[in-house]
Amino acid sequence: MTRTENGSNVVLDGNAAAGLLQEIFVSDITSAQIQCAACGSVAAVGSLRLYAVQMGAVLRCRHCEGIVMRAVHTPHDRWLEMTGTRSLRF
Ligand SMILES: [Zn+2]
Repeated sequence: MTRTENGSNVVLDGNAAAGLLQEIFVSDITSAQIQCAACGSVAAVGSLRLYAVQMGAVLRCRHCEGIVMRAVHTPHDRWLEMTGTRSLRF
């Protein structure tokens, strides 16, 4: 949300965040610091425990074994579920 000169808020759609999101998603994700939503611990994505599954990957926290990230590859799409992640810092 952006404020105008008179202090009112301007609401834009997600396209306005394209530049910022592109910077985030093009970065090397393995060096990003991820915070587990379950226990609050912070670690590099590359240090998470990987449980490979047929269609993708399940990444678990090294401290509490909570699922922080699930990635699935289908014939038409890529899915990323991050319910177990509190934050991701690049
Ligand atoms: Zn955890």
